[in-house]
Amino acid sequence: MAVRPVAFKKPQTTPETEQSQLFDTHPEVRLDFSHVREALKQGYSKPFLLVDTSLIRNKVRRFKAAMPRVHPHYAVKANPDPRVLKTLIEEGAGFEIASITELDLLLELGVPAAEIYYSNPMKSRAYLEYAAARGVEWYVLDSVEELRKIVSIKPDAKLYVRIEAPNVGSDWPLSGKFGVKAADEVDPIIAEAAALKADLAGVTFHVGSQCRNPENWRVGIQGAKRVFRKMRLAGLKPRLLNIGGGYPVRHVKPIPSIEKIAEVVNHALRDVPQSVRVMAEPGRYFVSDAGFFICRVVGTATRSGKRWMYWDAGVFGGILETTEGLRYDVLTDRQGKLIPWNIAGPTCDSVDVCMRDELFPEDMQDGDFIYIANAGAYTTAYASNFNGFPLPDVRVI
Ligand SMILES: *Cc1c(COP(=O)(O)O)cnc(C)c1O
Repeated sequence: MAVRPVAFKKPQTTPETEQSQLFDTHPEVRLDFSHVREALKQGYSKPFLLVDTSLIRNKVRRFKAAMPRVHPHYAVKANPDPRVLKTLIEEGAGFEIASITELDLLLELGVPAAEIYYSNPMKSRAYLEYAAARGVEWYVLDSVEELRKIVSIKPDAKLYVRIEAPNVGSDWPLSGKFGVKAADEVDPIIAEAAALKADLAGVTFHVGSQCRNPENWRVGIQGAKRVFRKMRLAGLKPRLLNIGGGYPVRHVKPIPSIEKIAEVVNHALRDVPQSVRVMAEPGRYFVSDAGFFICRVVGTATRSGKRWMYWDAGVFGGILETTEGLRYDVLTDRQGKLIPWNIAGPTCDSVDVCMRDELFPEDMQDGDFIYIANAGAYTTAYASNFNGFPLPDVRVI
């Protein structure tokens, strides 16, 4: 076994666009590979994510240094491991949740309910009652119906409205699932809040995950300012600007560093009054770089002339974002010539194909380890027990 694993993809050269000065301007980090070798000495029984919490700490500090005015509230869904959450608590992060299971996780770890923002635009009555009873103060909405629902359960709720933001250049555009248009669709919500004497006090947007276009934040903040003006005219008291998540991490494509995104955000925030609390909801950015996901080849085959490789973690085992086009930097211990492979998981579902025509060494064999870099976000969090395969472990350094 080679001491150093092999990276398949050389980093792409920066594209020659007018924005190219934005990309890869600051070094990005990854878990030191020697930790992976150490972890494997303790054995392997199933796929696992190896996380170095010191890298999470550094990402939080870097985010805060880049945007001193912006309070980060971690999006729990990216990686809800309690040890990850504990690290983020120690670094002074707040949180953003979508469900009461996420709420309970945080409350058990001693997070004050006031630090937890309920940022899922669609919440059941039962979940709202539960969250309200436990002291959650802030709730998002993006429809008149949701406004009425929340206020009927918690009349003194502090509310923020989610507006549409451009998702151009995001790997996960939200394609209209959430958010109202700042120009017009927000008007009936503001009018209804004023009529109900509801405390509609904030604006949020989400530029889409793994967003490589900093302009989206600028446009989002401009839209929020426009909504603030409308809110004041209606007699409401805006005091929260939540600039959402979407901050990208380095895999195989160049990214704008957080410092470059911060230049755009900080500039756009200059005329936002100090009475407005500014927060963000980074998920991927805080945890992705901190982890290597390790799995293993179960078997290989040739079908209609195409090489297939089956891993013990596939779409149901945490390698799901590849189906939406994300490409990780994947390492192995093989040195063979690179040829195209189809990569599938171990289950019998036809959906369980992670990647097609990806370059891997031709000499890959069953039992080989697969090392997926910067995979701390949206991997273990997505995994299921489908077909009887075990959930991946999370091992923390
Ligand atoms: C998922 C999500 C986030 C986090 O997105 P990342 O791309 O991981 O930063 C933030 N806010 C909301 C409302 C989300 O749904």
